[in-house]
Amino acid sequence: MNINMSLKCGECSNQTNCRVGMSNRDVQPLKFSCKKCGTLIGIHVTAKGADTLDNRAIAAFQAGKKPKDVYLNQGVNWTITNASEVGLDGMFDPKLDFVDLHLDFPVVFGSYVPGNTPYMQAVGRSGGRMAAFHRQRLGLINDQYKKYPQVVELISKYTKGFYGPFCDYAKKRFKLQVKSQRMEDINAALYTVVSYYVLPFTLPDDSQALVRKYTGTAVDLMQNKKAAMAAFLQELFDTDFLASLQRDCLKVYKPIFDAELPLRPALFLDVDSTYAAAKTAMRVSSQDFMEYREVYKDMAEVLNRQLVLLAGMGNLIERGDHNAFAVRTSKTGKQLSPASLNEYADVALGNKLHDLDSGWHTIDPLAHDNELRNAIAHNKIDYDDVTQVITYYPKLEGMEREKKREIQLLDYMHRLLALFREVHRLHHLVKCLNYALLIEPGASMVKRP
Ligand SMILES: [Zn+2]
Repeated sequence: MNINMSLKCGECSNQTNCRVGMSNRDVQPLKFSCKKCGTLIGIHVTAKGADTLDNRAIAAFQAGKKPKDVYLNQGVNWTITNASEVGLDGMFDPKLDFVDLHLDFPVVFGSYVPGNTPYMQAVGRSGGRMAAFHRQRLGLINDQYKKYPQVVELISKYTKGFYGPFCDYAKKRFKLQVKSQRMEDINAALYTVVSYYVLPFTLPDDSQALVRKYTGTAVDLMQNKKAAMAAFLQELFDTDFLASLQRDCLKVYKPIFDAELPLRPALFLDVDSTYAAAKTAMRVSSQDFMEYREVYKDMAEVLNRQLVLLAGMGNLIERGDHNAFAVRTSKTGKQLSPASLNEYADVALGNKLHDLDSGWHTIDPLAHDNELRNAIAHNKIDYDDVTQVITYYPKLEGMEREKKREIQLLDYMHRLLALFREVHRLHHLVKCLNYALLIEPGASMVKRP
């Protein structure tokens, strides 16, 4: 279902025609920038029983009701900020600015074509079956999003070590009985909740296969390279590295939940195989970029630390010693590879992949975008909210900002999603090694004070 409206900018009076495609979410905060003056205009839609909206609208149209009466009768309401609504008589005036808006799909910057709605365009690009999968996944988010603050609270009780209140909260809010106050049972409860709420943001089958692989490898190392694995676990325990990394991993979920709205169209790129090739500029119909800058940087920092674990495991597999990296030397014979895992922890993220020689786990290249990460970390980034173009400068040389790169906000959200998925995947490794410290055969391999 779509609602056509025409809005006059509160700052410069420029008029923009909007076609608002309805999502099944009960609250839909949409935003776009006035093309003439850049003012951020908001359309806040509320829709009662949004998941049945399409069917009810079709029924009303079939009963011969006028579009306006249909919307008013369907429990759909909206308020406008920074603009006022102008009465619409018939078709849009093609001379005016036009935007398509839809929370769930990327929308093309372009002109109005009757009937070619964001939804129809999306179905055209992904096919009906994949578009339905996308809607199903978003349906799960629609059902879950109001619980995000409680998931965050549960995580917070865990990371602060309030295990008693954690168990009470899990029972009260998630109907989850924690078996006992032993850490392995508390962990099981925590990860049951986290996996369920994070599911729509991950790729199908990503988690289970990985958990099997990580667990299988850890068990194999504990049985067949016992002393070496014990030394690795001992170092993880003594340095508190694993525990602090687990806390950092758990911090990435809140920002992902907070970014749910702009991630919705980015999720569509999973099913849109034409996107990468087409290079069409597409818009995100919700919040702006600035809020999601820090998120990327913080998440990349977590990845940076996770790679230490990955390197340790890789070294154990390849050379039977978590500190033993494959030797890399410069032309002059200087050793470039780190002498120990501890030294590797200090290697910059951009150079960390050089010393991961085990093919055991491959990092998604989209998740490891060092240029973008550096640009964000060093504030070498600009955002134009009218075009939704992010410009960044991977190298700041002299006074001139050379070698600029541009990406759309949609691409940025997509990369953020890829980074999140990688961090979430490697969180399974953190979890697995954590269990190795808690339960046998690993638990007794570690000397404790
Ligand atoms: Zn304006």
